[in-house]
Amino acid sequence: MEIWDSALAHMRSRLASQHYENWLLPLEATLEGETLVLRAQNLFAAEWIRRHYLELIRATVKSQNAAVGHVDIRLDVASALDAPLDTAPADALSSRPASSSAHFVHGEPRLPSRLNPKYTFASYVVGPSNQLAHAAATAVAAQPGRKYNPLFICGGVGLGKTHLASAIGHHIATHYVGLRIEYLSAEYFTNDYIDCLQHHRMDEFRHRYRVQCDVLLVDDIQFLSGRNQTQEEFFHTFNALHDSYKQIVVTSDKYPKEIPELEERLVSRFEWGLVADIQAPELETRVAILRKKAQVEGIVLADDVAFFLAEKIQSNVRELEGTLIRVAAKASLQGRPLDLELSRECFQTGVPLPITNVTVEDVLRAVCGYYNLKLAEIKSPRRHRTVAFPRQIAMYLCRYKLGLTYPAIGDRFGGKDHSTVISACRKILDLVERDAGVRSALEEIEKRAGLRR
Ligand code: ADP
Ligand code: MG
Repeated sequence: MEIWDSALAHMRSRLASQHYENWLLPLEATLEGETLVLRAQNLFAAEWIRRHYLELIRATVKSQNAAVGHVDIRLDVASALDAPLDTAPADALSSRPASSSAHFVHGEPRLPSRLNPKYTFASYVVGPSNQLAHAAATAVAAQPGRKYNPLFICGGVGLGKTHLASAIGHHIATHYVGLRIEYLSAEYFTNDYIDCLQHHRMDEFRHRYRVQCDVLLVDDIQFLSGRNQTQEEFFHTFNALHDSYKQIVVTSDKYPKEIPELEERLVSRFEWGLVADIQAPELETRVAILRKKAQVEGIVLADDVAFFLAEKIQSNVRELEGTLIRVAAKASLQGRPLDLELSRECFQTGVPLPITNVTVEDVLRAVCGYYNLKLAEIKSPRRHRTVAFPRQIAMYLCRYKLGLTYPAIGDRFGGKDHSTVISACRKILDLVERDAGVRSALEEIEKRAGLRR
């Protein structure tokens, strides 16, 4: 159609070619009276174009042809129903961030606040154990809502589920600027739901998760087990998003069928898309993960040490990383090289559990129980020794047993600066070497927290 063709020619020079080809070229144009109707192949594309290109299209068409009063983006119902969802435009993964190439996409990429900025595809090591889940995650990130919807990522504790789900969030946030991403745990969803129910804010709740959300990432969905009312709400949330071709990503420590007390209709929906599992990493992958982590943390890691650690810890990446940090800290504190001898020593003191499910809350509870404190006290700004010392112990455990970063620990302790956390960790590391009393206190606390048998 002539009007549209000449508008396209004009816009072509103003947009990055990939954006032009992805979004504008596939539109079908017709003129209905004074209205130029543009039909998109699926709802996702229609919404995306409305949000990002409609103004440009309107301005261009009007400047060229005064007879056109309106521009309307509609869903091409026939092709939306017929077309397989994976006949989508070229792979967006390889493109530059939308913000730098298409200036009509307004605003800077904004990361949802709960996403860990370190969990990206770039920092994820791919091996046979996680290849399928990784490939599915990149496909979903490249074309949200098109290929695998929902994507269900499952696997044991500490194998990288949260990392992958977050990486999807990052990628979409930077490549599809303007798409609204909700990243949350199923526990958060549950609490938010209960809260909104109590305060008669269900309209707001539904608006947030069904309307104002383009991509929903829900971590640890097994938490919904046995929570029937929340499951019901989640079911409707799921349907609303899925019906609008909006991407849903769910992680779980079990396959959908294996989650106890999960409604059958949710199980079946989780199986609609792709269920991708992550297995424990093989030796080579574990070594590669250690090398990557060492690089990020600025630790010089010899091959024999990497293999030694990777042999010792086989089933949990979080623990693997925690151990690397622990041996590196010991080396730097004692002014010794990080070698095999030092690594071996680290394994003689205490038997680390092969799998840790332990959370910051578990650690806090154990520390507070041991020192007879209230949870609120340990997170408070109080500096008295009776509180400060247990707080330092808790920070130490979070760093070296749970593998949290210093800033993350600062956050969990009432917004403390990361330098405060560093000095707390160093102090306790130092005491562990010198003070048998501290060692036995730690041993007891670790047992209570489930970090040690
Ligand atoms: P899960 O959610 O499955 O319990 P996480 O995603 O929290 O596990 O991963 C635990 C830790 O291990 C994180 O620090 C994560 O970055 C790291 N990790 C897991 N798998 C990989 C991987 N393949 N490459 C790099 N880091 C990984
Ligand atoms: Mg997780």
